[in-house]
Amino acid sequence: MAETTARSERETLAARLPEPLRPLARLAYNFWWSWQPEGDALWRSIDPEWWDACGQSPVRLLREAPQDTLDRAAALPAILERMERLSRGLDEALARPCTPALPAMPDAPIAFFCAEYGVHASLPVYAGGLGVLAGDLLKEASDRCVPLVGVGLLYRRGYFHQRLDRSGWQHECWTVSAPEQLAVERVLGASGAPLAVEIPVRDRMVHASVWRADVGRVPLYLLDTDVPENSGVERFITAQLYIGGREYRLLQYVVLGIGGVRALEAMGVHAVLLHLNEGHPALAALELVRDRLARGEPIERALSAARGRVVFTTHTPVAAGNETYPVAEIEHALRTFGAEVGAAAPALLALGRPEGAAPSQPFGMTDLGLRASRSTNAVSRRHGEVARAMWAHHWPDRREDEIPIGHVTNGVHVPTWMAGPMRALLDRHLGPEWIEHPADPWRWAAIDAIPDEELWATRCRLRADLVAFARARSVSDRLARGEPIEYVERASRSFDPDVLTLGFARRVASYKRLNLLVADTERIVALLGGAHRVQLLVAGKAHPRDDAAKAMVRHVFGFKEQLAARVVFLEDHDLAMAKLLVAGCDVWLNLPRPPLEASGTSGMKSAMNGGLNLGILDGWWCEGYDGANGWAIRSDTMLDAPLQDARDADALYGLLEREVVPLFYERDAGGVPRGWVRRVKASLRSLGPAFNTARTMRDYLVQVYARSGVAS
Ligand SMILES: *Cc1c(COP(=O)(O)O)cnc(C)c1O
Repeated sequence: MAETTARSERETLAARLPEPLRPLARLAYNFWWSWQPEGDALWRSIDPEWWDACGQSPVRLLREAPQDTLDRAAALPAILERMERLSRGLDEALARPCTPALPAMPDAPIAFFCAEYGVHASLPVYAGGLGVLAGDLLKEASDRCVPLVGVGLLYRRGYFHQRLDRSGWQHECWTVSAPEQLAVERVLGASGAPLAVEIPVRDRMVHASVWRADVGRVPLYLLDTDVPENSGVERFITAQLYIGGREYRLLQYVVLGIGGVRALEAMGVHAVLLHLNEGHPALAALELVRDRLARGEPIERALSAARGRVVFTTHTPVAAGNETYPVAEIEHALRTFGAEVGAAAPALLALGRPEGAAPSQPFGMTDLGLRASRSTNAVSRRHGEVARAMWAHHWPDRREDEIPIGHVTNGVHVPTWMAGPMRALLDRHLGPEWIEHPADPWRWAAIDAIPDEELWATRCRLRADLVAFARARSVSDRLARGEPIEYVERASRSFDPDVLTLGFARRVASYKRLNLLVADTERIVALLGGAHRVQLLVAGKAHPRDDAAKAMVRHVFGFKEQLAARVVFLEDHDLAMAKLLVAGCDVWLNLPRPPLEASGTSGMKSAMNGGLNLGILDGWWCEGYDGANGWAIRSDTMLDAPLQDARDADALYGLLEREVVPLFYERDAGGVPRGWVRRVKASLRSLGPAFNTARTMRDYLVQVYARSGVAS
């Protein structure tokens, strides 16, 4: 693979630093630090307040810190030693040989395509679970030395920051980040000038530059159309993630799919396999076909050869989430591309519809993924069943269980999501190498031997950290909303580090049923205010155009009147907040309307920290729940949504009242809730080895990448 990355950004940064701190520039430009136990502490120790103020971005911290702050840091041995240790660790990580991962080789990697990546809070190119999963998979590929590169878009306006007004209504703030403020470096072409990729969009060639973010050993290439050669509209194509207008989104998909393949080609990255994560990048498959046609291959051969190099993961069991475009719109978006492929254009466009469908039918991104790939997988066992039923019309002569859609259940990257104190506890008890092999169940068996007192003390520490964060954050949220002084000040006393803490934080989409939490006002007030106290933390952004979801946020927010000290809505949920929430909450709630949760991953993050899941049996929880490792609500798919909501809310409150609250407060003489800790151990032991990305990556390597097809 040609080394095409600019040196200038990190060199410029290094030049600004006092001599002893120069190695920090290299650490700042590789997100590897973000999943090392000492990583956060390194930057925080330079200037704790500034670290949080600049969004935990090392590049901004070092670029913007006053010179005397840097000089002071350069004189502190503790900082220098930490820096040395991390630098050595990064050297070692980069020097390890690649793991053979057929068919991928170091010079023929797997190219992972996704519309969003949640690598770290300081790289705001993610919205929710899909992106966080993609980021976790890149980190896992780095840890396992799998030859893999990521391809995505650099959204300069990122995803929005959420602000609530005093009525609880969501407002979106879009802030623009200049690439210089991000840990990305411009990719240069052979001439040393910035690499420029030309992409056929509508009637013209749109120009894109490419940025590279290093995720350990894995390069993540991000395309950016905000370059002077483009028109105003064209420059805006990659401005915002999941931009509201579908026309713009389609242009993003052209840039991501077709442009992504061309960018790899321009960089000399010869991907052996394209992994399309969700339908957004599916047009990449058409670009592979075009390339073969341009070399003079007949269409049939070009199609089957391209298909042999593409694997597809579907994530969306919600019909509306699988985008389709009317023929006129897709034809317009691909007009120049269509001219490039000439007579083959109708055959390529037909791949966006089930075989034999009328050419007037809309073009679906998921349909394209299904038809232009050699294999398709869903993201949990349950989702596999749902996807086979949902897409059965593509295989009209097969029985539903013969539909060729398998599943690889999602996981989470343990070093990212397990909080420091939990990691230290497990390092002590599971042996020093356990973190290298988190998918081995026998390593987790040692959980049973951890003294209850120690595990409980760790849980209490994580809860206390979260409560401290929630207090500080509520004060600043309330100040920003212009709340009365008395109410602001109450936030600094609300919440208690010793009280049972429930959490619910994820994107607010209607099917996630945030409203179930407060479906029965009297009962929730009684529960939270009962003799055994309970507190509830809620966070999540609604899509800017989803007024129903915004109304849900406002509805829950409205409970601040009755339950100010027991319920808090934390604004602007992001990766940094998510880490604290999944670590500190005792119980993680998940209330999707089945079967609409493909997998869900936040519950896995909670489990890694010794939190207990209480969820609807849907998505991953159908595989995860074993009767002893949390709580489950069985909710059959019903046509009558209000009735289903009422039943599920009743089941939720019932479990909380009868089982969760009593178990948490049943203490022995030493104050330890033995029954609770037993359940935490069962959860860690059973869920730890199964729902991490080491297992997910192994499944992709064995069941998807190495094979020509996935069986269910
Ligand atoms: C993990 C995560 C999600 C996904 O949550 P679900 O459980 O899949 O709903 C969403 N947002 C952020 C910031 C996350 O870290």
